[in-house]
Amino acid sequence: MQYDVAIVGASFAGLAVASKLGGNSLLIDRKEIGSHQASACGTLVKTMEAVGCENSILQTFDEVALHVGDAEITIPVPDRFCTIDYEKFCKTFFKRSSASFVKANALGVKNNEIITADKGNFKAKILVDCSGWSAVLAKAIDRDYVKNDMMSFGIETEVPFEDDKLRFFLDNGIIGNGAAWLFPAGKKSRFGVGSYKGETRLVENLKALTDKYGVRIGKIHGGYFCYSLKRPCVGNVFVAGCAAGQTLPLSGEGIRRSIIFGLKCGEVLQQVLDGKLPAEEGRKIYEDFALRYRTHYQYLLKLQESLPKIAPWQIKLAARLLSFKPIGTYSFREYEKI
Ligand SMILES: Cc1cc2nc3c(=O)[nH]c(=O)nc-3n(C[C@H](O)[C@H](O)[C@H](O)COP(=O)(O)OP(=O)(O)OC[C@H]3O[C@@H](n4cnc5c(N)ncnc54)[C@H](O)[C@@H]3O)c2cc1C
Repeated sequence: MQYDVAIVGASFAGLAVASKLGGNSLLIDRKEIGSHQASACGTLVKTMEAVGCENSILQTFDEVALHVGDAEITIPVPDRFCTIDYEKFCKTFFKRSSASFVKANALGVKNNEIITADKGNFKAKILVDCSGWSAVLAKAIDRDYVKNDMMSFGIETEVPFEDDKLRFFLDNGIIGNGAAWLFPAGKKSRFGVGSYKGETRLVENLKALTDKYGVRIGKIHGGYFCYSLKRPCVGNVFVAGCAAGQTLPLSGEGIRRSIIFGLKCGEVLQQVLDGKLPAEEGRKIYEDFALRYRTHYQYLLKLQESLPKIAPWQIKLAARLLSFKPIGTYSFREYEKI
């Protein structure tokens, strides 16, 4: 059977692509849909509303607290943030698409076929790689597509603990050249640490954070997030989400970005399938859309790289400025444009 579109990866980006497609599209993931949460799942309420997945919201926030050393600075945010139930989100979003799902481990691509380790090959007119940092299809075409030195790595644990703010920590006592976070999600909270250098041995760092709150580390999950924005079309494959490096440097925010790029990718592909756009033009429209944010990514990357060299008093000063509503609102709106 030939599908119109076959997508590897049924998470934020892949589900967003599928939600814009009619006809017979296929989602392939090595895990059951929504069964493998890798992230703290903090995002904007309006992102969830835009895709009709408000039912997955666990808690909402009007403020973000930035901890720099011992100082805690509260920054009001003009748009509410939320934490979500990943499984509920994925299942709800999937139901809103007409795609079918196959649980299979994709190995790569040959012509217009996705090769899997366990379920044979899947042929489609258009292939999309939403497989996260490993970019399994794009990498099969271009071996250098995945930039191992341009990835952060994070781990977290979700344990019983209630709080009312999203908290970020820039504190060398917890982690140097990285950040930590505490994201409440109802009766539980997600405590996490991330290394901008991509260091993977982070359990001691996580312990430094959980000790601060007197909680014990539970089951740990996590992974890489790729922040080197890349060309989103490789050979005949469209790439969206973390696979295309669309997670933001510095903040590590990737859910909103993966959904935005996934929706755009799906929209363009449907127009190509409907014959409203020649394939080459569709490809160019998606590429231009994805790469027009390049300077914003570069700016955030510069900030991320400079962070270890910035004195704590300078970070505190910047955070205090952001805590003034007009400055905070302006800065947030600029950030949100990305
Ligand atoms: C610890 C941590 C915390 C984070 N917290 C946040 C946060 O709070 N807010 C935020 O906005 N961002 C956060 N991020 C970043 C965010 O998780 C990513 O940007 C986002 O998940 C990217 O979505 P995606 O759909 O592109 O890829 P993923 O969510 O990584 O999904 C990739 C999918 O592809 C599947 N897959 C991979 N390889 C194969 C294969 N070979 N065959 C078949 N299927 C395959 C995987 O099973 C998975 O379902 C966090 C990241 C980490 C690591």
